[in-house]
Amino acid sequence: MYCEQCGEKLRKGSTICPNCGTSKNKVNYLITEENLPEQFKPISMWGYLGYQLLFSIPVIGWIMLIIFIISKDENINVQNFARSYFCFLLISGILLLLIMI
Ligand SMILES: [Zn+2]
Repeated sequence: MYCEQCGEKLRKGSTICPNCGTSKNKVNYLITEENLPEQFKPISMWGYLGYQLLFSIPVIGWIMLIIFIISKDENINVQNFARSYFCFLLISGILLLLIMI
């Protein structure tokens, strides 16, 4: 095995190059919003508004809400928002029911 930086031959099992000191498994990347995986990308304010409007539509919106909650590969932010909106709808429904009784 050779050093990626300077080409020095590395001893078996060594993780640091004796010549230049470069770590063998050096991970050198920058995390930005652009290179985040699709699953963790943040939602914009308009995105949240859009989802909120969608979830407010009776029946169709609620079905979409359930789909977002149970979907495994959905964006984590959309999923959490859907969960929170589901709880909000549930609480609102119960309160409305209590008022009407
Ligand atoms: Zn080296």
